[in-house]
Amino acid sequence: KIAIASICVGYLAVKWNGPSFDPESLRGARVLVTGASSGIGEQMAYHYARFGAQIVITARREKVLQQVTEKCLSLGAQKALYISGDMSTESDPDKVVDFALEKLGGLDYLVLNHIGVTRFAMWDGDVNHVRWLMKPNFFSYIQMAWRALPSLEKSKGSMAIVSSMAGKLSNPFTAPYCATKSALNGFFGSLSHELAMKKSNVSISLITLGLIDTETALKAVRGIITTPAYPASEAALNIIITGATRQLELYYPWYTYVMNLIKDWYPSLTHHLIQNALNYNP
Ligand code: NDP
Repeated sequence: KIAIASICVGYLAVKWNGPSFDPESLRGARVLVTGASSGIGEQMAYHYARFGAQIVITARREKVLQQVTEKCLSLGAQKALYISGDMSTESDPDKVVDFALEKLGGLDYLVLNHIGVTRFAMWDGDVNHVRWLMKPNFFSYIQMAWRALPSLEKSKGSMAIVSSMAGKLSNPFTAPYCATKSALNGFFGSLSHELAMKKSNVSISLITLGLIDTETALKAVRGIITTPAYPASEAALNIIITGATRQLELYYPWYTYVMNLIKDWYPSLTHHLIQNALNYNP
């Protein structure tokens, strides 16, 4: 009981003691959001638009991106532009950042959120898929971050790296995905230290999400996971606030914070909880 009480107190302290968010700070802010044709990325684009930001969005599907930018303009974005790109290629990550830098005259926020398509299934030995998935989910992130860094340095900017509970605590059916998210946490955790030690102006926020109600996620887990999915729009807003207030981490929803704490204290209990939350009858 004492352990649970201290976890709750810790979580609430983190929530309440965070710096306060000034929505005005985002008016005119120059933002690049990746994976913004659907899901959480699309919702982030709409929130930034309501705050009056200047936005560049990217993903592969040009037609959908065009519709999202139109909606962003109608919601109040000062600028909304799109560029299609495939983040599993070597050249598109740089091309996208260069486009945003040129069209917006620099960047204040870089929000890396896209993921490549992967199966929600038991590991079947397909090493090539893991090798490929690392390209969109990991290599493009570090490439884009490095490309945008000089501009973010000038603007005292921020990066938000959208990761997952799967990057902190492995789940079944997602081995390649867990590997890429763990890689993100490791790399950007280290980079965050290095920037702070160099007295850099740039902050990095690492985002740990639980199950969110996007179409892709719900389709993948349907019939297997029965835990509730949290709203994409609320997840998106929390990510934006975390970046704008330059916090190191976000845990959304609340239970991801608790799971992250108990996983090392009670590994067997954690294994039990995870496996029992899944419907699997071989
Ligand atoms: P979606 O599947 O809804 O969106 C993924 C986005 O990435 C789309 O815009 C898609 O657009 C784009 N994308 C896919 N492949 C590529 C590619 N090769 N190159 C460029 N863009 C690509 O995902 P979510 O909104 O659910 O997830 C967003 C983030 O949140 C991810 O980082 C995910 O890991 C994280 N997260 C989500 C959770 C959830 O339950 N939803 C839980 C934990 C973390 P297009 O097809 O047009 O290219």
